[in-house]
This record gives sequence, structure tokens and C-alpha cells, in this order.
Amino acid sequence: TGAGPEDPGDVLEPRGDSRPGTPLLTVRGLHKSFGDNHVLRGIDLDVRRGSVTALIGPSGSGKTTLLRSLNGLAMPDAGTITAAPSPRRARDGGAENGEARSEPPGRDRLVLDFSRKVTKQRRFALRDRSAMVFQQHNLFPHRTVVQNVIEGPVQVQRVPRAQAVERATALLDRVGLAEKRDAYPHELSGGQQQRVGIVRALALRPELLLFDEPTSALDPELVGEVLAVMKELADEGWTMVVVTHELQFARAVADEVLFLDGGVVVERGAPDRMFREPREDRTRQFLHRLL
Ligand code: ADP
Repeated sequence: TGAGPEDPGDVLEPRGDSRPGTPLLTVRGLHKSFGDNHVLRGIDLDVRRGSVTALIGPSGSGKTTLLRSLNGLAMPDAGTITAAPSPRRARDGGAENGEARSEPPGRDRLVLDFSRKVTKQRRFALRDRSAMVFQQHNLFPHRTVVQNVIEGPVQVQRVPRAQAVERATALLDRVGLAEKRDAYPHELSGGQQQRVGIVRALALRPELLLFDEPTSALDPELVGEVLAVMKELADEGWTMVVVTHELQFARAVADEVLFLDGGVVVERGAPDRMFREPREDRTRQFLHRLL
């Protein structure tokens, strides 16, 4: 059969059916309130395989809440999220390669209807499809780089340790951090820490990578190296949803940009068009302030 997870040639390959353009996640009518604060007010979003979606908009517009809804970290109050069948899991079927999983193989698409009760199992099945890179790297301070990277695969996905270490090492090599594998997080620069954060997400072999302002906590001179890794991943065909204030990055890398304001998508489209000739006043004002 094809390249297995232990084949170092495939470590940066996206998991699953990688036919570009087919729908991976479909979001319809998503609503979310925190108390009286109605944060998401009917969001529609289509994430296609191999695409990069950038979420932009002023602070408090709901970008992070939307992103967190995509992997079950936030629980919407209404709307649906539909995820395509997970081909790799369907193919794996069981523990053949050591990946014993708690859910049944995902031969069917996964539908979460938040106006009804969403079971924990479905929520975890959604979470399992993606991996998140946070604003702060969230690395364990008392574990080495490689220990941080293998934590999820070994503890959650039951990947054999030796195999997880081999994959982690290959991934670190790909982002230029091979020599840091036994360092502790505090021995790394902020940019290096964030690259480890990205590797940690990749090590989970997600179908979808979610980035929550991955460079906003970095010193300006460290932003470039992280964006460069993200651009590489986009070029390699990873499916990505990115909350970002880096409009130049969004313009260069995103296939679709969504401008959120007040919990609604005010405008969406290809970045070149939107940045050159925004259709909505609110978009124009926002872009003018930042560009
Ligand atoms: P953005 O990412 O666009 O800055 P957020 O999604 O983080 O926006 O926040 C949108 C609104 O939701 C803000 O008013 C924020 O205070 C509120 N909010 C976000 N998370 C929580 C939470 N866990 N509890 C209460 N309010 C929240």
C-alpha cells in the first residue's frame, strides 16, 4: 500500500484523501453566545481540501470563537458543522499500524447539529480531525522539544513511541530544528518555540490545521520564520484555517479571506480582489487602518 506513517518521506504530507478542492468542513448558520454577548451570528464557511482560509477582522469580532468551534473547543448554540469522512481512519480500520482509536472508523461524514445535543463522541471525532496552533506555543516547560512533539501521538493516538520519535525527528528536521530536539522550550527563541508548536500539530497528522494568531505574540523580527513555515505547509497542500492580523501573509497565501465584524462575515473572497477593491465600507475601513 502507500506510504505509511513510518515512511519519513511522507511526514509532511496531509493525512487522508488529499484530492484538492473537495469539501472538508461545511459550516452553516453557526451561532454562539457567551451570556448576553452574541458573538457568532450565523456564520457560513466552506473549507475545501488543500485550501487556506484566512479569518481577519477587528478584535472581538468572533474570529477565535469561530476557529475554536471548528475543532469542538467552543460549543456553538445553533448551526451545523459537517465534516467529510476521514479516509485514513476508514482505511486504517483498527490498530494495524498501532493507531488504536476510540472512535469507529469514519466511513461516514460527521454531522454536528448544535441546536440539538451534541454527544461527546461526535465532538471528539471533530476535534480529532484537526490540530490547533495557538498564539502562545503552550509547550510543556519541563519536557524537551521531542517529548513535547510526541506527547499527543503517544498519549492520545497510541502511536508506538519509537515510531512517534522517528516522525517527530523528521518533522523537526523539515522546519530546521533537528539540532534542538533535546533542548527545553526556554532554551529556544520565540520563533523556534512557535515552530515546535507547529510541528506538534503536524505530528498528530490532522486533516486540518487551525492557526490562532500564531505570530501575534512574537517579536517582529521572529515573525518571518514562522510565516515561512506556514507558507511552506500551504504550498505542500495542507488544509489550513488561519486567524491572522498579518494581512500581507493572508494576501500572499490564502485562497479565501473572510472579513468578520460583529459576529458576521461582512465580506469574503479571493484576497487579491478583496484587498484591491473591497465591496463593503466596513472592509475598506478595516483594511485601510492596517495596510
Ligand atoms: P476575536 O478573535 O475576533 O478577537 P473572539 O472570538 O476572541 O474575537 O471574541 C469575541 C467575543 O467573545 C469577545 O467579546 C470576547 O470577549 C468574547 N469571548 C470569547 N471567549 C469567551 C469566553 N470563553 N467567555 C466569555 N466571553 C468570551
